[in-house]
Amino acid sequence: MGDTEAAAEKIEVQSAATISLKEFLEGTHPSVLKEVSDLWDIHVNSSAYKRKLITLPDLRLHCAKCEGFRTFRCSSNQFLDMDTTVTEFNSRYKCGDCHEQTKLFSLYVKFGQRPAGEVYKYGELPPFGIPVPNKVLRLFGKDANLFQKGRQCENLGYGVAAFSYYRRVVENHKNDIFEEIIKVCRTVNAPTAIIGELQKAKKEIAFTKAIEAIKSALPQGLLTNGHNPLLALHGALSAGLHDESDEECLAAAQAVRLVLTDLVEKIATLKQDNRELNEAMQLLLKKKS
Ligand SMILES: [Zn+2]
Repeated sequence: MGDTEAAAEKIEVQSAATISLKEFLEGTHPSVLKEVSDLWDIHVNSSAYKRKLITLPDLRLHCAKCEGFRTFRCSSNQFLDMDTTVTEFNSRYKCGDCHEQTKLFSLYVKFGQRPAGEVYKYGELPPFGIPVPNKVLRLFGKDANLFQKGRQCENLGYGVAAFSYYRRVVENHKNDIFEEIIKVCRTVNAPTAIIGELQKAKKEIAFTKAIEAIKSALPQGLLTNGHNPLLALHGALSAGLHDESDEECLAAAQAVRLVLTDLVEKIATLKQDNRELNEAMQLLLKKKS
């Protein structure tokens, strides 16, 4: 192993062990104690009085009102006596765009060697993680609540459980997923070969088996970064529940949710684009006549 490789590995190990306070607040689910590298500093006021200071960083969080990622800010930093070793506090963040959506964190902090420390998140409101878009939930009808339970398990880091929920929902709604893709293929005038293959695949009992039967390309507009989302789903769903660790199941569960969400959104966009195109055509034709 060369020096650079060794150095890169060292950095990776380090970053896995300690994270920034921003990374912790944005990306760590509640109920985990984490080492944070930039927790606190010493603040000296005009009368030379020293206190410990926890600066709450700006965060990039999902805003339900703005329906996307926005910068959230917290106006109240925490000042503590120098002899404080542990503390608990709530911090309230607000979306910098709409100034309406709030995010509340309830935290436990244990000071370490400056500027590090340990942080534990009792909870947050709205709950950790981006909510599942309504478009996705609608596709799953009465099983929408199972999908949401999968999301909650994923939020808490319960990989095996999250994966089981998602797999159950995907298997139960295999036909709905294929039906949506077939509809979109017809809308965008995709080659008949792919439509035929999708219809045949729909008849397979297992979702992964169904995907294996598809050989033709999906319409460009349905691809995720140039990749076939059905193959990506196949890969994630084939990860067994028996041998993989909880972490591996969590990664597979996350992949299933992300690919499905992206696919459903792309289907909706293609339908919308086509509707607008048709309307524009109608308008032009009307003008001409
Ligand atoms: Zn907002």
